Amino acid sequence: MELKASEEAERRPTSCGGIIRPFIPESEIHRRVRELSAEISRDYRELDVLMVGILNGTILFMADLMRHLDFDLTVDFVGISSYGDGTTSGNLSWTKQPGYPVRGRHVLVIEDILETGQTLDNVLAALQADDPASLKSCVLLHKQRPDFSPRPPDYCGFRIEDHFVVGYGLDLAGKYRNLPYIGIYQPASSVTVEVIEIEVRFWSHFKDLTGVAVTKLQLPSGCRVAEATEKILSKWPSLEPHSQSALVAVGNEYATEDRILSAGDSLSFFPPVQGG
Ligand code: 5GP
Ligand code: MG
Repeated sequence: MELKASEEAERRPTSCGGIIRPFIPESEIHRRVRELSAEISRDYRELDVLMVGILNGTILFMADLMRHLDFDLTVDFVGISSYGDGTTSGNLSWTKQPGYPVRGRHVLVIEDILETGQTLDNVLAALQADDPASLKSCVLLHKQRPDFSPRPPDYCGFRIEDHFVVGYGLDLAGKYRNLPYIGIYQPASSVTVEVIEIEVRFWSHFKDLTGVAVTKLQLPSGCRVAEATEKILSKWPSLEPHSQSALVAVGNEYATEDRILSAGDSLSFFPPVQGG
């Protein structure tokens, strides 16, 4: 399954100034993980299976994958420090060594994301040296990069375009592993603020106070009635004394301050109804 980044949905600001844009929703991850589990169950039933997750990015993937596997298996994790200096198993530096013997077992290595493929290759090479009965790999994400073509994994959750992704176990400087969905990290320098245009209407004597009946207003997307009102009051300060009592509507309905505005909305301000 191949995915392209979607443009819709909310964005989560990060402490480093960028944003996380939702990419693969939780429901889609769970659907695909169940498919992978079914495939793995079919292939490995009756075998002596050792599933080995590469820390730390596989924690959520492993937890979800294994709970849908309906055969007896042994679960282990390994940690490796970096793949920077050398690609042979001899150079592999474990931060957590395998906890179970590999010899004679059917080993399935689980990785969060494949980019150059070096991390996974290193772990596979190290485990292969210990003579497993079979050795296969399963990755949640395979990042398609024109400059690298790693050995394809035996099982793959999603093939994705070249983005830095976070969530569902994957981190950004140690954070965001706990997000239940996968998002794309966009650094502050690349974030463009989308602008929407709404219509603003002043009714009754508000029309006289502003000298305007209908006008257009540009706002950042995701803007709420409260922020729009603030902008309007700073443009037409004559409304300020009436701001507490004014009634606000979006379209034909009264709107609360936290109502999010969409492009094309019509925002009306009118004085409270007198008499009765
Ligand atoms: P490779 O060795 O295949 O080049 O890189 C894989 C490792 O780099 C993964 O185990 C993961 O830790 C990290 N990595 C690669 N791409 C991403 C990404 O988009 N997001 C995060 N959080 N980690 C990544
Ligand atoms: Mg990793």
